[in-house]
Amino acid sequence: MDRDPAEDLLRIAIELERAGEAGYRIKAFRRAAQTVAAADRAELAARAAEGTLAKLPGLGDVTARCVAESLAGEEPVYLRRLLATADRPLDQATEELHAALRGDCHSHSDWSDGTEPIAAMADAARALGREYLVLTDHSPRLTIARGLSAERLAQQLVEVERLNAGYADGFRLLSGIEVDILDDGSLDQTPDLLGRLDVVVASVHSKLRSPAAEMTPRMLAAVADPHTDILGHCTGRLVRRAGGDTSTETRPESEFDAAAVFAACAANGVAVEINSRPDRLDPPKRLLRLAVEAGCLFAIDSDAHYRTQLDWLRFGCERAARCGVPVDRVVNTWPVDRLLAWTRRERG
Ligand SMILES: [Zn+2]
Ligand SMILES: [Zn+2]
Repeated sequence: MDRDPAEDLLRIAIELERAGEAGYRIKAFRRAAQTVAAADRAELAARAAEGTLAKLPGLGDVTARCVAESLAGEEPVYLRRLLATADRPLDQATEELHAALRGDCHSHSDWSDGTEPIAAMADAARALGREYLVLTDHSPRLTIARGLSAERLAQQLVEVERLNAGYADGFRLLSGIEVDILDDGSLDQTPDLLGRLDVVVASVHSKLRSPAAEMTPRMLAAVADPHTDILGHCTGRLVRRAGGDTSTETRPESEFDAAAVFAACAANGVAVEINSRPDRLDPPKRLLRLAVEAGCLFAIDSDAHYRTQLDWLRFGCERAARCGVPVDRVVNTWPVDRLLAWTRRERG
C-alpha cells in the first residue's frame, strides 16, 4: 500500500507533541515533512535506494529512516513506537513498568566502592519486594573503586552462597560483576570466574574520551564476548544532579557508533542497561529510542552503592516508558529462572 512519507512525518510530530516531548524534536519532524512534501517522489525513491535521503536539507538520519520505511510501504518504526504508547499517560506507563520489575541487575557492596555490607543491600531489596538482586562489584583494574581480584571474587561467591541459604522467602541474591571493558574490548576478569557468575554487566570506565574509531570496536568486542549479559551505562556520561547540587562533576557522552553497538547487542542477546542513577540517566533518550528500534533487550538497573539507592529504578522506568521500551524486553521483569536461562545462553 502506498504511504505518504510527509504525512507520516507530520503524524510523528503530532504524537511527539502529545507526549510532551522537546520542541526541537517536534520541529525537526515538521521541517522534514515540509522538505519531503515539496520533493519529487521519484527523487525520494532514488535517494532512498542509494541511501542519500539524509543529505536533503531539513532531513537527518532519524527522519530519513522514517521516510525510507514509509516509501517502502511500511509504517515507520518510530511512529509505531509512539502510537503504541499514545493512549496511555506517561505516569501510567511508568507505573506499569515499575510494577512489572522483579529484580535489579546492578548493585555494589562495601566489598568494592559501595558503602554497605552485602546482607544489608539484599535485605533492602527484599524490603522493596524484589525477588532478586544481582551483586555486581567492580573488577580488579578499577583500583579507585577497590575492584575485586579473582581471589576476592571467589571469596565473595562463597559469601553469596552462604547468605542465600538464609532466605526463606524465595528471595535470591545472584552473583555477578560489573566488569571493566579493557582497551582492547576484553573483560577484566578470568573467563573461568566470569563463567561461574549468574550475571555479567560489562562497562567502560576508562579512556572515555577515546575517538569513536577506538571506542566502537572496543565496545563491539565486549558485546561479542559470550560472558557479557548487560552493557552497562553505555555513554559514560555524568549529568548534574537535580536540586542545584554543584558538587557533581559532569562528563559528556563517549563517542561511538551507537547503531552498530546496539545492532551487535540485539544480535548477541546482550541487554542495554538503562542506568537509573540520577547523575547518569544513561543512555540519553535519543540513544534509548535507537536501541528500541534496533530490537535490543534492556535491563533497568539502579547501580545502587547504598541501600536507599535501590529505589532509583523508578527514574529508569520513567525514561523507558517515555522512549517506548516494551515491558517484555526488560530482562528484570522476568522471573529469576528465565533470567538465568538467558544469562546462561552462551556460557556452555
Ligand atoms: Zn559503572
Ligand atoms: Zn556500577
